[in-house]
Amino acid sequence: MSRTCVFFHAHPDDEALLTGGTMARLAREGHRVVLVVATAGERGLSAARTDLGAVRTREAHESARVLGCARVEFLGYRDSGLDGRRGFARADVAEAAERLAELLHEERADLLTTYDPAGGYGHPDHVQVHRVGALAAELAGTPRVWEATVDRTSLLRGLRVARLARRFDLDPFRHAFTARDEITHSVDVRRYAHVKRAAMAAHATQTTGGESTRTLAALLTLPSPLFKLVLGTEWYVERKRLRAR
Ligand SMILES: [Zn+2]
Repeated sequence: MSRTCVFFHAHPDDEALLTGGTMARLAREGHRVVLVVATAGERGLSAARTDLGAVRTREAHESARVLGCARVEFLGYRDSGLDGRRGFARADVAEAAERLAELLHEERADLLTTYDPAGGYGHPDHVQVHRVGALAAELAGTPRVWEATVDRTSLLRGLRVARLARRFDLDPFRHAFTARDEITHSVDVRRYAHVKRAAMAAHATQTTGGESTRTLAALLTLPSPLFKLVLGTEWYVERKRLRAR
């Protein structure tokens, strides 16, 4: 039976890195995959570019095409950046949730993915995705909510390997995401690793631009077997199952 799965993300590139394999797998198994992005990511790497939001919107559309999405929607909020002083992180939760709920209702979504309560590594827009997503699913009566996260143990092991190719700081990841025993679903996406890699590569501004640590770029340098080891599983926490209305 074909299901409709809505993947809710904060910024362009989050969909590829966190859930790209799951999206590719579901689409290829005949399910309807919809991508909803809260912001255009205009405060990401290469933020000096005045057209970054427009460019990243195009990159997200390309990534979604590669993954096999049937529909892409942007909620149109401003990227808050890491300080979170304005933008999506400070937006009215009820209002944003209502807009997402409308889409969930229209799509008759069977599944919504959001983020864990800490927003993974604590980006204020990611925390807001958790809040907005939880409320939207409740409003729309979406039966399943999966919080996209990362198994912390696997992440640190993978990043130590990735660091052999390119040095970057491990500290931000030591308390990030979710402990292994809280994960409810581990999705094997190794067969779709090449699709996930292509979707990640579609976000060119985040791999070639910017001055700070380029995690995406570091991951893309991994040879195929290592890429599969580091990015061949995607993790979710199903907090509660709501009754369909
Ligand atoms: Zn993000």
